[in-house]
Amino acid sequence: MPLSFPVPDLPPGLDTVRREVRAFLDGARKAGQFRPRVNSWLAYDPAFSRLCGEAGWIGMTWPKAYGGQERSALERYVVTEEMLAAGSPVGAHWIADRQSGPQIIRHGTDAVRREILPGIVKGEIYFGIGMSEPNAGSDLAAVASTGTKVEGGWKLNGRKIWTTNGWRVQYVIGLFRTAPRDEKARHAGLTQFVIDLSTSGIERRPIEDLTGAKDFSEMTFDDVFIPDSHVLGKPGQGWELVTGELAFERSGPERFLSVFPALAAATSVTDGDRSDSREIGRLVAHIGALRAMSLSVAGELQAGRLPNVEAALVKDLGNAHEQETPEVLRKLSAGGPMLGDYGYEHILAEAMMAAPSFSLRGGTPEVLRGIIARGLGLR
Ligand SMILES: Cc1cc2nc3c(=O)[nH]c(=O)nc-3n(C[C@H](O)[C@H](O)[C@H](O)COP(=O)(O)OP(=O)(O)OC[C@H]3O[C@@H](n4cnc5c(N)ncnc54)[C@H](O)[C@@H]3O)c2cc1C
Repeated sequence: MPLSFPVPDLPPGLDTVRREVRAFLDGARKAGQFRPRVNSWLAYDPAFSRLCGEAGWIGMTWPKAYGGQERSALERYVVTEEMLAAGSPVGAHWIADRQSGPQIIRHGTDAVRREILPGIVKGEIYFGIGMSEPNAGSDLAAVASTGTKVEGGWKLNGRKIWTTNGWRVQYVIGLFRTAPRDEKARHAGLTQFVIDLSTSGIERRPIEDLTGAKDFSEMTFDDVFIPDSHVLGKPGQGWELVTGELAFERSGPERFLSVFPALAAATSVTDGDRSDSREIGRLVAHIGALRAMSLSVAGELQAGRLPNVEAALVKDLGNAHEQETPEVLRKLSAGGPMLGDYGYEHILAEAMMAAPSFSLRGGTPEVLRGIIARGLGLR
């Protein structure tokens, strides 16, 4: 199968929504409601999420019946890229808006849609991704946490790790083994559940990372009852659902704009040195190419296709760009990274500390390249 990156027809009105979201962000920045930062889609700020909800920037494409506006995926794309480029703290609602809400719309029961989607749209309900376990990261089919059928629902047991913001969000979509593991069909027997994290039997603890941030978490499940209404799709369909979810997770502008605020800040502090300009220009050109590929995947998703291989390629190239950017910037004449007063050096220091994680979250290069090779028939 050759890779395919058709350029989507951009609907009219994109410039209007871009102007609107820029005006919103300018206003919020001037009012002191946020300070630009790198990796801002991990920055957990419920007050800012509620502002986004009030302004209509969450769940934009979702059905009106659940609080959405039925706008196009490309309009949403413009909003998300402007939010990231501005370094705004969209982390609280990011996962719910990007993948959990769409997953519930596609595969959830009407009861769950009504329970949850309007709260996400308002910027009040947040989600985590309950996939990874201590022995199931890249090899997600090794998931060992179990779901056992009981009267009216399921009992969940096991342990999840690395869930971004899992200790402070209200829900996760978790992947559990609901049929005994079969080595010949490793992807069978998995099920996704929508889990209210206030349910008894769940323990959560934050995990501190290199930067001192407590974004990660570990969650344990001890006989946690989840009603049948909170199963996504059909029991046993979990692998199919999770791979569909990953196409949404891997191809968005957050895969190449995480450190854009550092690049933007660099342009205002360099002293016009020609080699600085050449390096910055090269990085900006990369963003142009990545954006075209990412927009193409967004168009395919909007058309109802699942371009998993193309999404893996966007993520792999995007992560390479994001990891190269701080390395290039620190060699510019403007000076190196330094935590301290909030300014270019500080933003650059944050970018450098966050960069190692970019190629882990959402799939490592080795795993992504395996998917791409298989898609190209090379494996
Ligand atoms: C910032 C961040 C946020 C995250 N957020 C979440 C979250 O919200 N929810 C969640 O569920 N998880 C999350 N994760 C976990 C992430 O998805 C896993 O870390 C990732 O899947 C890798 O798994 P692992 O850490 O167990 O490493 P392993 O899978 O043990 O991999 C270790 C090394 O072996 C290599 N390797 C593994 N298998 C192969 C193979 N078949 N071929 C070649 N090389 C291979 C890998 O490339 C890697 O270099 C997050 C991780 C990070 C860094």
